[in-house]
Amino acid sequence: MPTNVPTQVDEIWRLVDAKRDSFIALSDRIWGMPELAYGELRSAAEHAAVLEQEGFRVTTGIAGIPTAVVGEAGDDGPVIAFLGEFDALPGLSQEAGVPEPRPVAANGNGHGCGHNLLGAGALLAATAVKDHLASRQLAGRVRYYGCPAEEGGAAKGFMVRSGAFDDVDIAITWHPSSFSGVKDAVSLANTRIDFTFSGRAAHAAAAPHLGRSALDAVELMNVGVNFMREHMPRTARVHYALLDAGGIAPNVVQARATVRYLIRASDLSELNPLVEWVRSIAQGAALMTQTTVETTVVSAVSNLVRNEPLERLMHDTFVRLGPPEFDEEDRGVAAMFQATLTPEDIAEAYARAGLPVQADKTMCDLLVPLEAPRAGGAGSTDVGDVSWVVPTVQASGATCAIGTPFHTWQLTAQGKTAAAHKGMVHTAKAMAGTAVAALLDPAVIDEARASLRRRTADRPYVCPLPAGVEPALDMSRQP
Ligand SMILES: [Zn+2]
Repeated sequence: MPTNVPTQVDEIWRLVDAKRDSFIALSDRIWGMPELAYGELRSAAEHAAVLEQEGFRVTTGIAGIPTAVVGEAGDDGPVIAFLGEFDALPGLSQEAGVPEPRPVAANGNGHGCGHNLLGAGALLAATAVKDHLASRQLAGRVRYYGCPAEEGGAAKGFMVRSGAFDDVDIAITWHPSSFSGVKDAVSLANTRIDFTFSGRAAHAAAAPHLGRSALDAVELMNVGVNFMREHMPRTARVHYALLDAGGIAPNVVQARATVRYLIRASDLSELNPLVEWVRSIAQGAALMTQTTVETTVVSAVSNLVRNEPLERLMHDTFVRLGPPEFDEEDRGVAAMFQATLTPEDIAEAYARAGLPVQADKTMCDLLVPLEAPRAGGAGSTDVGDVSWVVPTVQASGATCAIGTPFHTWQLTAQGKTAAAHKGMVHTAKAMAGTAVAALLDPAVIDEARASLRRRTADRPYVCPLPAGVEPALDMSRQP
């Protein structure tokens, strides 16, 4: 590592601190306007406005997605990308700071995955790097990618497909978490497919023999898939949701019904045969019920590709920075939320971080070791697709009581706490420090690229989105 790196890494932390308040305010504003996948019009506009104010060159409508926004600063040199998100989840409306379920709006949306912090924190890191490039007159470009629809919309995959990442050298992002440190690069590839069955309506009592039930077909399909489960690879997962059960009248044979499937596996080679199996089961259900079936791919994402050189660089930056510093008040608030959790929730968070359970601890006061023996379940993220084409590293940032499960009211409730703000700023420092260290030591970028080439040598990136599939911009609208 060149000798000027540590000094400049310390310097960038001051630049992060200098702007922390306005980015905390941005996070709180996004928390207060929870918008669902591809419907993040106000949230994306907030991010675009901050990019403009900060002097980034702003482009909106990336990959034909109205809520995808990119801001760039700097000239020449390597391109460092920070990935941000700002979409919320349905049904997770919750008052801030209240440790019992209390929606702000009945059935309203809520930031139950902390993407208000994710977007603002990544933008804070990008802004600090921009300020650093300018004050030190360094060659290098920094880009903030405001990526919509992480929750099921796979926007980053469409952005990759459109070439938006083609000239990026490294990508950095993070996710709120119970613990701080480098995030493990384990996630499942997935695809979401809608199966719509069409039959024939009829009077269910007077002339049932004239009807053909699309709802029957959905039920048989689900039974078939549930028998398939026994024979799936261990890491695979299948879930479904009824989008249209054919109406509310039991005395009408249901002429139309739609079920959405979400199929996940460790990578595309494991996923694709399962998807074909599910498609065959749908055909079988149509045959059995004399209905027809049409399928629509809604989204698809790849698994994450690890990048060890960037993980080491980020870990060294975290170690230099030290663990996040929470105070008695933060720990007191966290204790109230921990009281709403089960011991299993808390044990799961420790297992995922590869740490032994410490039942008396409410907030993170450590850094997860790089080689911690992590276990536990994995979800999916559209960061996966970026990681196949650009060396990518992710941080975890402690922003909530240890054990808080994601996609819950407890997580929404903790999206504006002082601890959440501290965790966001702390992680922005780790990300910005990693970017500066990479800019000052081009050998790291070469190593990161070589690592990605090695890992993908025998299986080059294949976009999981079938040709012709476009972003499901209306996916969050109620059917
Ligand atoms: Zn998330």
